[in-house]
Amino acid sequence: MSLKEFKTPYYLCEERLLRKNLELLEHVKKESGAKVLLALKGFAFSGVASIVSEYLDGCTCSGLHEAKYAKEYFCKQKGEIHTYSPAFKKDEFEEISNLSHHIVFNSFEQLRKFKSRVKGSVGIRVNPEVSSSPVDLYNPCGVYSRLGVTRANFEPDQLKGVEGLHFHALCEQDADALEMVLEGFEKNFGEFISKMKWVNFGGGHHITKQGYDVKKLIELVRDFKKRYGVEVYLEPGEAVGWQCGDLYTTVLDIIDNGMKIAILDSSAEAHMPDTLAMPYRAEVRGAGMPNEKKFTYRLTGNTCLAGDIMGDYSFDTPLKVGDVVVFKDQIHYTIVKNTTFNGIKLPDLRLLMSDGRVELVRELGYEEYRRRN
Ligand SMILES: *Cc1c(COP(=O)(O)O)cnc(C)c1O
Repeated sequence: MSLKEFKTPYYLCEERLLRKNLELLEHVKKESGAKVLLALKGFAFSGVASIVSEYLDGCTCSGLHEAKYAKEYFCKQKGEIHTYSPAFKKDEFEEISNLSHHIVFNSFEQLRKFKSRVKGSVGIRVNPEVSSSPVDLYNPCGVYSRLGVTRANFEPDQLKGVEGLHFHALCEQDADALEMVLEGFEKNFGEFISKMKWVNFGGGHHITKQGYDVKKLIELVRDFKKRYGVEVYLEPGEAVGWQCGDLYTTVLDIIDNGMKIAILDSSAEAHMPDTLAMPYRAEVRGAGMPNEKKFTYRLTGNTCLAGDIMGDYSFDTPLKVGDVVVFKDQIHYTIVKNTTFNGIKLPDLRLLMSDGRVELVRELGYEEYRRRN
């Protein structure tokens, strides 16, 4: 496939890489007995919905829009839709309830308010108060967290009709972090687990990352199921979309102001938001750390935000206007978070299929900006 073939910017999701992730998740399902759902929050890509549905049990949704999207693309005929929201709204609840097999409430107040209108299975999210999340922004168990009921706020006399407990305390973590959270969860909520039909272990399991202890995850789930006799759910987002595609951009201009600065037809702020929010350094195909290779550049976005900077990278040969720069692993937590800030064009969505053909899934242009502003 020629890099020059398509108009940048675009994300190219690769079916072959996605299937590799899904096969591993299917292995976890088979060996552990857990059900695995895709958390749409991190990875919603309509072009691969039918592929994901071949392997996983359904979708985890954060509210009405994701639940509708799950139904439209991922769970057309089969597949469970689970919806959790920090707070549900009255005027949306009927539709959410019609779509959802599980509904998870974030407080007992919300549970009381909506319980009688739930058509599927009711759960409550708890805060295990144990987490080793790397960053506060992504720590649901931090101080003053609004996410999940703590043991102190838990109302055991209100559990009538509640069939499941849900926790989500991990972020890009290994199975030993899950083990630690499970210990805290069981210490605080152990007495209620056997009364439940299911426990949802949330997301943040970095299952498809190289080096993740898959065997340990399988053992933890198996052991938990055996001890409590409940169904276990995992709902990864990132692990599904992990390393299954890149963002393709083009160099528009090169400025020299103390160092060489390349301006790309993309944006860290608008198209790679976690590189600024987490923050982390995205890898660039063929590039190294600054000064590691002969020619170093600051790669920057085409917005007016001074800090719209992807980072400093070095290359074996000088960059030229018109060159394509490829940011690796940009499929999860990008497309779902992107904005049309500064009127910058959203990257198109493309899918590289296993047979080598490239499908244009979404072409995004001026309309996206106009519709929203
Ligand atoms: C974000 C989130 C997930 C998915 O997390 P990943 O880190 O993408 O695996 C799952 N469940 C809940 C409740 C979440 O908030």
